[in-house]
Amino acid sequence: MENDTLLEIAKEFGSPVYVYDADTIINQYERLTNAFSSVNELRIHYAVKALSNISVLKLLKSLGSGLDTVSIQEVQLGLEAGFDPEQIIFTPNGVSFEEIEIAAKLGVQINIDNLSILESFGSKHPDVPVCIRINPHVMAGGNTNISVGHIDSKFGISIHQIPHIVRIVENTQMTINGIHMHTGSDILDVDVFLYASEILFEAAKNFKNLEFIDFGSGFKVPYKDGDIETNVEEFGEKLSERFNTFCEQYGKDLALAFEPGKFLVSEAGQFLASVNVVKQTTSTVFAQIDSGFNHFIRPMLYGSQHGIRNISNPKGRARFYSVVGYICETDTFANNRRISEIREGDILAFSNAGAYCFTMASNYNSRYRPAEILWYNGKAHLIRKRETFDDILKNQIEIELFDNAYAEALI
Ligand SMILES: *Cc1c(COP(=O)(O)O)cnc(C)c1O
Repeated sequence: MENDTLLEIAKEFGSPVYVYDADTIINQYERLTNAFSSVNELRIHYAVKALSNISVLKLLKSLGSGLDTVSIQEVQLGLEAGFDPEQIIFTPNGVSFEEIEIAAKLGVQINIDNLSILESFGSKHPDVPVCIRINPHVMAGGNTNISVGHIDSKFGISIHQIPHIVRIVENTQMTINGIHMHTGSDILDVDVFLYASEILFEAAKNFKNLEFIDFGSGFKVPYKDGDIETNVEEFGEKLSERFNTFCEQYGKDLALAFEPGKFLVSEAGQFLASVNVVKQTTSTVFAQIDSGFNHFIRPMLYGSQHGIRNISNPKGRARFYSVVGYICETDTFANNRRISEIREGDILAFSNAGAYCFTMASNYNSRYRPAEILWYNGKAHLIRKRETFDDILKNQIEIELFDNAYAEALI
């Protein structure tokens, strides 16, 4: 998107504000479907937790996507956006049995990731087909918080427990219609992914009624210059070929499924914030914006590096800045970052702000969560209003306190 368009959006809708470019989402979706055009059926389940605005969900639905959900509320959002229950897969971790039953009752595809729930669910609902989440114990992922396939991970049923799964399936007479893995969020190496896939194929042979194999996600998108990106085209070619061979051996055309979040929406998003203060200390120039980790926590939580451009002064002389927020705690977006000269009132644009940014926003410091804009068909659409003071008060209950005299009498 052009700088001028972004500046106009900041002017019209105020700052800070999240802006998502629909075309980028559409392009990423098409890249993925094109890469896997040779498989019998490709199912893409967009991971709602990355960016859950209902208008974004509708956009993905219009492209033919399904949804990956991790809470019953995400399931409800998907239904609200018009998805059929069969287009939604529910992959919870550590939620209550009741929540899984509610999702099953709504007709969504259940994905179970531990043996005790599998046994309880199979005993009680043997007629509801379920998918199982396998942990192949492949170490992948860029950050320990988001690498979920390793041996001590809390996610999935260990690949070494396949015999136990098989016994539960036999005892309960339940049907396993899908097999799934999600090994981490930052897979850089196609061969690592293919290696994990082999483990999943091996496991799949134990189940005779499969309809799909779900390879989760793990697509890496570039955040900063020089970052490696998953080569989706190469990956598509290699995995499709291997998948088609597997289907021949299995004796049935299965669907190949993915659940990308970041890949579809990360690069589509920009976060616009305005500079309140430029502060020179003995060693550093700080640019303080009208935001903080209440709106945008990824740099502080994961150390992720988001590009920062000064769109008000793109041709200004580049200088080094620490970009920080207004929260009464350390909230550093970037250290010692080269940005064209920043003046108070300038608008900074943070890139890769589509995934895990707004969805992690909070009201910390009693601030409003920002507005969200979808740039669609050459026009800025407001898809979430900025909060107001009513939102801060909403659900708070004021109680009557004793007046002082009465309180003193009690003592
Ligand atoms: C979070 C999550 C995803 C999406 O991961 P990305 O890195 O955003 O693509 C997919 N599947 C499951 C089960 C998840 O928990």
